[in-house]
Amino acid sequence: MKLYRLPAHQLHQLIQDREISIQELTRSIFQRIEEVEDKIKAFLSLDEEGAMEEAGRLDRKLSQGERLGPLGGIPIAVKDIICLKGRRTTCGSRILEDFCPPYSATVLQRLKEADAIIVGKTNMDEFAMGSSTENSAFQVTRNPWNLASIPGGSSGGSAAAVASGETVMALGSDTGGSIRQPASFCGVVGLKPTYGRVSRYGLVAFASSLDQIGPITRDIRDCAMLLEVLSGRDGLDSTSLDYPVPSYLEYLVPDLKDMRIGLPREYFVPGMSYEVREAIVQATGVLGKLGAEVEEVSLPHTEYAIATYYLIATAEASSNLARYDGVGYGLRTREGNNLVEMYKKSRQEGFGEEVKRRIMLGTYILSKGYYEDYYGRARKVRTLVRQDFEEVFQSHDAVVTPVSPTVAFKIGEKMDDPLKMYLSDIFTISANLAGIPGISIPCGYSREGLPIGLQILTKAFDETTLLRVAYAYEQNTHWHKREPEDLQT
Ligand code: GLN
Repeated sequence: MKLYRLPAHQLHQLIQDREISIQELTRSIFQRIEEVEDKIKAFLSLDEEGAMEEAGRLDRKLSQGERLGPLGGIPIAVKDIICLKGRRTTCGSRILEDFCPPYSATVLQRLKEADAIIVGKTNMDEFAMGSSTENSAFQVTRNPWNLASIPGGSSGGSAAAVASGETVMALGSDTGGSIRQPASFCGVVGLKPTYGRVSRYGLVAFASSLDQIGPITRDIRDCAMLLEVLSGRDGLDSTSLDYPVPSYLEYLVPDLKDMRIGLPREYFVPGMSYEVREAIVQATGVLGKLGAEVEEVSLPHTEYAIATYYLIATAEASSNLARYDGVGYGLRTREGNNLVEMYKKSRQEGFGEEVKRRIMLGTYILSKGYYEDYYGRARKVRTLVRQDFEEVFQSHDAVVTPVSPTVAFKIGEKMDDPLKMYLSDIFTISANLAGIPGISIPCGYSREGLPIGLQILTKAFDETTLLRVAYAYEQNTHWHKREPEDLQT
């Protein structure tokens, strides 16, 4: 049995029934990493020793008749933008190459309490800025479905690791699509929770009014399990909200009776690939068969979303990244004759091209005389984008859209044209601007065998409906069962 291929809920059962040990499972994951990591390059660091030790500890607990937490013994990979105490947390950047945080993020604390096992830290676009993981300062991660293609980004390492069997689950972060788009490109499930649902204490900040941490998993049950562990108010993050955390698994029923689902007309843009369009149309047919009423709706401010996002995200990034100055932590240049020169050189050496581009853009946007015209205006348009959704959700339970206009593109294809890269985020960005939850689930494959994702969006804090729609679709289709052929051994 290929243990590394099974979803967490099945592994959980096998462990509870004492059919397999946690050490066996952990070993199977590290063997798989040994087998394929050279090709995929999903991880920036691994912790086999720590993981095996923890597995042994949990096995002993079980054999003494103790109960384990809800993720007891499940291997999980963590995007390298989430702080893990005493372990390198690089954010894919030279400037943090040797940075070991003195504390762990709240989500990692929660994983620990749930008895999950951390496998390692995954590759990403530097400071989560990008859509392909090519902006990592360290390595290029490959798409397990086609090694010449990108895995998506910025959580590309996490999505590729789940798809290739190098972990069972993973954490990503999503500021403008960075969980959903790589999940879609790698044929796995990725959920961006409502803004405020999951604590961000210990998540290195990119754009604070947009960032969220969320799960990347094999299927919807796993996603529901992991989301429940991550969710809830945290006194250490003032933006996390005190809404009750439902037992998400209980809402997973395989039909959509009495549901109204909107299909936004603005999301079927010219330039979208024919195969993606077809897959989405087919998917809406399935939702209809399951009892939902699917009808066209309008989100009229969609066309302003990309411009609005890149104003807000770069402005906030320029402010958040001001702290990397070679003094408090991270890289310090060996050159520079005075303090200001040292600041400048450290930042010059430490940041990559895309990060510098965004800092410059963001600093300009926030400068005197432009602030109101750019940042102020963008915030107003953001309100309009949010109101579009509020309007639709008065009469509809969910909205479905594509995740990306195309399937995974080739490595190198968009690297010399940043605007082209930005445009590929067209369908995921609005959810971050509106603060609402969104999920990507597999809904088909291109002729070349690359995965296509379906995005489902609901109103804020309605992850239960989101998961229910996703589950009903998943249970009535077979897309999530495929494995990347290139990697079959
Ligand atoms: N691709 C988008 C960007 O480059 C989104 C990234 C993200 O969600 N972290 O900003």
